[in-house]
Amino acid sequence: MPTAGKASWRELLRQGEHLLRRRARPDPCEDAGTDAFLLMQAAGGPDRSHYPLQKNDPCPPALREKYLALLRRRAAGEPVQYILGEWEFMGLEFKVGPGVLIPRPETEQLAEQAIEYLRGRPKCRVLELCGGSGCIAVSVAKALPAADITVLELSPDAMRYLRENIARHGVKNVTAIQGDALCPPPEITGPYDAILSNPPYIASGELAHLQKEVQKEPAMALDGGGDGLKFFRGFNTIYPKMLAPGGLLLYETGEEQGEAVAALLQKAGLREVRILRDVYGQPRNVLGYAPEKP
Ligand code: GLN
Repeated sequence: MPTAGKASWRELLRQGEHLLRRRARPDPCEDAGTDAFLLMQAAGGPDRSHYPLQKNDPCPPALREKYLALLRRRAAGEPVQYILGEWEFMGLEFKVGPGVLIPRPETEQLAEQAIEYLRGRPKCRVLELCGGSGCIAVSVAKALPAADITVLELSPDAMRYLRENIARHGVKNVTAIQGDALCPPPEITGPYDAILSNPPYIASGELAHLQKEVQKEPAMALDGGGDGLKFFRGFNTIYPKMLAPGGLLLYETGEEQGEAVAALLQKAGLREVRILRDVYGQPRNVLGYAPEKP
């Protein structure tokens, strides 16, 4: 980027986009234009609604330096979400940073499915396993204030974000418990109207080949063991029996894992087992229901 003169926001945006597209290492940033805009805004630049009116205004040098520093971090492979320190999920802002998985748009379907099902059971008890930032639990809690939601999370780092996000959104109906979802602490007892999870599901051998940004996320939130199914297999011996009659078990899975996870749910005696595709058309969620009382 040139150092002299007073560049306008529009010029800085174009230069930032160019830098992220051409100079980022080892690969160019996928969403260079969006990322450059978000970083310019984080540095004190105009937001989307003010940009059209202010784009030709000169950028003050101090903000330009700040913007440049953020661009350098992004070009070096840091996820834009970690640089910004927050990210949106289901229309809510969640605090994120190193040590916690970044909320993904395709995970919104899990939250939406859970909310839709639980609307018929307003005073429900819900359990979420491997809750990470808390984006799922908090979204469900906001939509269903009478629900009683427990979130289990093992990582102390993720736990800090989880507690902060619960406080930030003022949801009194979410309880965070630190513990291992594969060996749950004694306070985790059914019956639950719904049990939800987006557990780690990437096969261990694939971790080294993930996008450089994903590799900055905690391996603990991604690593699903040799074939990626370790958590689904472990959960199958513990959680189906904690469901209330007719209760919902709902998972996010990897694109290739739908059939295998559906087979596990069937083996556990769940009914109406289904695989749902995500917004990108990929198999993404697997769900089933506990039998109703005889
Ligand atoms: N969807 C994430 C990814 O593909 C993985 C999340 C997970 O393991 N639960 O990067």
